Amino acid sequence: MIKYVFVTGGVVSSIGKGIASACLGRLLRNRGYRVTVQKIDPYLNVDAGTMNPHQHGEVFVTDDGAETDLDLGHYERFVDINLNKHCNVTTGKVYGNVIAKERRGDYLGETVQVIPHVTDEIKERIRELPATADADIAIVEIGGTIGDIEGLPFLEAIRQMRADEGQSNCAFLHVTLVPFVGPRQEMKTKPTQHSVRELRSIGIQPDVLLCRTKQPLSEEMRRKVALFCDIDREAIIEGLDTDIVYELPVTFERQGLASIVLKKLGLEDHPVDLTEWEDLVERIRNPRGECRIAMVGKYMELHDAYISIFDALRHGAAHHRVEADVIRIDSERLEEAGAEALLAGVDGILVPGGFGRRGIEGKIQAIRYARESGTPYLGLCLGLQCAVIEYAREVCGLPGANSTEFDEETSHPVITILPEQLQVENMGATMRLGAWPCELAAGSLAERLYGAKRIEERHRHRYEVNPDYHQRLRDAGMVLSGTSPSGRLVELVELPDHPFFIATQAHPEFKSRPTRAHPLFAGFIEAAAAHAGIDA
Ligand code: GLN
Repeated sequence: MIKYVFVTGGVVSSIGKGIASACLGRLLRNRGYRVTVQKIDPYLNVDAGTMNPHQHGEVFVTDDGAETDLDLGHYERFVDINLNKHCNVTTGKVYGNVIAKERRGDYLGETVQVIPHVTDEIKERIRELPATADADIAIVEIGGTIGDIEGLPFLEAIRQMRADEGQSNCAFLHVTLVPFVGPRQEMKTKPTQHSVRELRSIGIQPDVLLCRTKQPLSEEMRRKVALFCDIDREAIIEGLDTDIVYELPVTFERQGLASIVLKKLGLEDHPVDLTEWEDLVERIRNPRGECRIAMVGKYMELHDAYISIFDALRHGAAHHRVEADVIRIDSERLEEAGAEALLAGVDGILVPGGFGRRGIEGKIQAIRYARESGTPYLGLCLGLQCAVIEYAREVCGLPGANSTEFDEETSHPVITILPEQLQVENMGATMRLGAWPCELAAGSLAERLYGAKRIEERHRHRYEVNPDYHQRLRDAGMVLSGTSPSGRLVELVELPDHPFFIATQAHPEFKSRPTRAHPLFAGFIEAAAAHAGIDA
């Protein structure tokens, strides 16, 4: 029998439902349960792939090539599992399917309605998940906030699931905010009471309440919330603001979050070992020293646009017990100010993925600075493409070299769309997506870091290093250290005469885990720490 935990949020958006779901997943998995996590996004886009970073933050990519919500990144990192395309459901997907069925005549002349047809489609999407993930417990997070019109069909669907699946097979966790207001900074539980009332008016009684707060909840407050919301006192969990999110599984475990959920689901509780996580937090809290990493990109004011990269840097830093101070540099500003002015004194330079021409020359200048000054460099996706352009221009003697993404008329299209990818017309889900195999060159830095000959990394891009230029790059000293098994696609490049210069066409940040830092990030931080003079 599959058990479900439904996670909803009240009062405000961005309240941390994703991290709460992820922590619960971790605590259940540590007890030996097989867990999967699903995010339901009530927007009409079919997936996150077509949304810009301002709207949506990062687009997280799964092994099977789905372009998903960034919360899937939290789930993968905390629970330490690989998710699939079934783990992100959107209104766009649900309605798309219902309309396709209607056109096929599957509804046999019925009037197609939100209830039951859309809600049935939603329930099907939720039910198909555990089988694809081989799970005992599915945690299902409903995006948005209670009271949103677009979320209603999903709430109705999970309400029905409690009846369909049986009371003891479904638990409801509601995440709310307890704000502090007024000159005396009084703690207010009224918004929480209202959001629970709203949830109950839809027919859902939460079993557990997770209250986000910036100060500890007093005993009196807990009792009050428990009374007004009709929830057990012990099931009122405090979610205190923290600067280290990896502390949260331990904090929630102390308050018995997973045990309460298991009891509600009629499942056996087991002892749990969180020493790995305690050790991780201890490493983050007590670094041996600090290195400064410059990240040169386009949406640097948006933390969420690069969330997996920030996390992967953190994992690498924790692995080496150093602190990585990430300096965010807008590449257009670098074009104006010059690389030296903004990058002198940094210990590592990272150019992340990106699309479009704006800011490209600044990224190329930053890479030139890294190459010439011997500053450790890590390039991710576009960061590889820019490194190849820079090398072609400055070292191979091809001054006009560019990507056809930025200059269709370039005299040297060192980065281009390959003929086999040219037929693509739509924008959605048409890139090289998901996990692709890559073979590493013997004796390369890549092989040393990965400790393997064959790897798989996740991709999300259209352009590639042009095969017509592979030999010229090699002849000029760039090592194409990772390629597709056929040799046609370049997956990694590096410079052997440099302390640490490596770039990948993939997005390794998606596979980094808190307690298992990704080798490229760990290697990059190690090199940056050495640059900063921190002893190995
Ligand atoms: N814009 C480049 C491409 O489409 C790089 C994409 C990326 O960095 N994710 O190939």
